[in-house]
Amino acid sequence: MTYSTLSIDWEDFGQLLGMYHFKDITEPVGGAIERQTKIMLDLLDQTNHKATFFILGMLAKYRPALVKEIAARGHEIALHGQNHKAMFTLTPSQAKEDISQNLDIVSNITGQKIYGYRAPFFSINETNLYLLQLLTELGLMYDSSIFPKKMPRYGIEGFNDKDALYILPDNSQIVELPLTVAEYFNKKWPVSGGGYIRLMPKALVNKVFRDFSSRQKNSMIYMHPYEFDTQFIDVRANYPKGASYSKFKTLSLNLRWNLFRNSIRGKIKSLLEQHQFITCLQKAQYVKENGNGTKLLGCQE
Ligand SMILES: [Zn+2]
Repeated sequence: MTYSTLSIDWEDFGQLLGMYHFKDITEPVGGAIERQTKIMLDLLDQTNHKATFFILGMLAKYRPALVKEIAARGHEIALHGQNHKAMFTLTPSQAKEDISQNLDIVSNITGQKIYGYRAPFFSINETNLYLLQLLTELGLMYDSSIFPKKMPRYGIEGFNDKDALYILPDNSQIVELPLTVAEYFNKKWPVSGGGYIRLMPKALVNKVFRDFSSRQKNSMIYMHPYEFDTQFIDVRANYPKGASYSKFKTLSLNLRWNLFRNSIRGKIKSLLEQHQFITCLQKAQYVKENGNGTKLLGCQE
């Protein structure tokens, strides 16, 4: 049996824009995250599946009720860091602070134990594998940050692309659930993200995921809330208060956030209807119980 997982990096694009613009955290505006979260939760209810939501701390801080609702509807709550930093740009102590803050905020909201983490921008690479050890120190069971292919800004070429249990230098253990790549024509393709699912025709998306099943390969889909929106996203409505951007920037952001986006819901719905989906935690528990544990080197600070 192979399983798929739908993972959502739960963040608000307007709030992220505000942070890059002001170098400070501002409250999300415009009601987009409320609308998008409702669409995702309803789609999951309709198809009777549970997903994993990697919660960004800076958003949870302003929208605790939404986090509570996601948890109350039976989905797994995991971590996406506090301030959406590329983790390889932080010192070990800054990285620890970012993840611990995220863990405190989110576990205080839900009152439940948290098991998993995904770094923003998949920013665990060969330079900061020590983070895996930090995650186990914080009591986490799995990580889902490693892209097993070198991409322009992230990824580790040649990293095992299967879910696996690793033994770290301090003898702690962690399950890694890498992002999914598909092998065609002797090349690995990053097919499981919103951006790629958006561009591929529905028949091709269905074929890729059927091939995973027939090759006995688990798959991990990763999406963002905005990708589920039913409305045209006008970034101007989501700009943080007091921010202004050039016409060109507004136009290019609107294009980026809207082009072909409306096809995504139907494609994801079709996958939810055809395949067996489990949460990251269920997958990690299975791997932990059945894996032998491989030593992972290069994890020291
Ligand atoms: Zn993110």
